Amino acid sequence: MINVFGHVSPDTDTVCSAIVWSWYLNTHTSQESQPRVLGELNSETRFVLNKWEVETPTLLEKLSAGEQVVIVDTNNPQELPENINEAEVLQIIDHHKLVGGIETPKPIDITMRPLACTVTVMYDLMGEVVSDLPEEIAGLMLSCILSDTLEFRSPTTTPHDKDVAEKLAEILGVSIPEYASEMFAAKSDISDFTDIGLVRMDSKKFNIGDKNFRISVLETTMPEMILERKEGIEGAIAEIIAEESDVDEVLLFIIDILKEEATVLTYSELTKQVVEASFGVTVESDTEVLPGIMSRKKQIIPALKM
Ligand code: MN
Ligand code: MN
Repeated sequence: MINVFGHVSPDTDTVCSAIVWSWYLNTHTSQESQPRVLGELNSETRFVLNKWEVETPTLLEKLSAGEQVVIVDTNNPQELPENINEAEVLQIIDHHKLVGGIETPKPIDITMRPLACTVTVMYDLMGEVVSDLPEEIAGLMLSCILSDTLEFRSPTTTPHDKDVAEKLAEILGVSIPEYASEMFAAKSDISDFTDIGLVRMDSKKFNIGDKNFRISVLETTMPEMILERKEGIEGAIAEIIAEESDVDEVLLFIIDILKEEATVLTYSELTKQVVEASFGVTVESDTEVLPGIMSRKKQIIPALKM
C-alpha cells in the first residue's frame, strides 16, 4: 500500500491533491494507494471535504523504513516525516522551488511545474482521464486551485490554473465567486484553533541570514478576528521559540484576501529588522501593513533578508 501525502501544517492543496492522486493511482494504474495527512486540518479543508462528502485521510504518525510513498505539494524534507529518506519515495508532484535533500534508492518519477497549485500539475498528468472525473474529485480539484490562488488573486496564478479551474467549475455547475467566498468564510473562522494552532496552521521554516525562522501565514477575509488575539498569539510564538530548538523567531503574516494586503506582526527587534530590510518600510508599531503582499512563495520568501 502506497501512502500519498503532502506537507506538515496541511493546507487544502496538500490534503486534497493527495486524495486526488491516490484516487488516480487506484483507478487508472495497477498501484494501490491511500491518502494520508501529517497534521490537523484547517477549517477551510474541513469545509471542502464536507462539501464534497470525502472522508478525512488518516494521520500518518510514523513512517516505517522501506515504506512506499508518493509526495505531493512539497519537495522539502523539512516539511516531511524526519525519516523520509528511509522510505522508498516513488514519485513527487509539486509546484514549489526545488530545495534538495530527498534521496531515493532508485530513479523516480518527478513532476514539478511553475503553476499555482499541485492539482493543476495533476490535471495535466491525467491526460484523457480529466474528461470523465467523478464529481467529488473534480470538486476537490477546483477547491485546491481556488485555495492556492486565493481565487486567482495571488500573483502565483497562471492562465493555465485559471483555465483548469473554470473548466472544472463548468463541469460541476459551480459558481466560482460563490464557492470561493464559502471556502474563505470557512478558512476565516478560526474560533476552533488555539493561539499555538494558529501560528502553526500554515507555517514553513526558512533561514534568513544565520537565523532560523518560521514563516507563518493566515489567509482570511476577517483579519480583525486574528488581530484581536494578537497578545495570545505573541505568547504562543514565545512558547514555540522556547520549545523548538531549530526556530529562533516567527514571522506571522495575516493575508487579507479581499483587500489584497498583508499585516505582519513586528513584536520584537528581530522581526522589525527583517521586515524593514525586506520590504523597505519603517516599522513604528507592533504591526506593519504591506499592501499587495499575498504570496509567501512568490513575494515573501524571495524578499526576506536581514
Ligand atoms: Mn501547500
Ligand atoms: Mn500547493
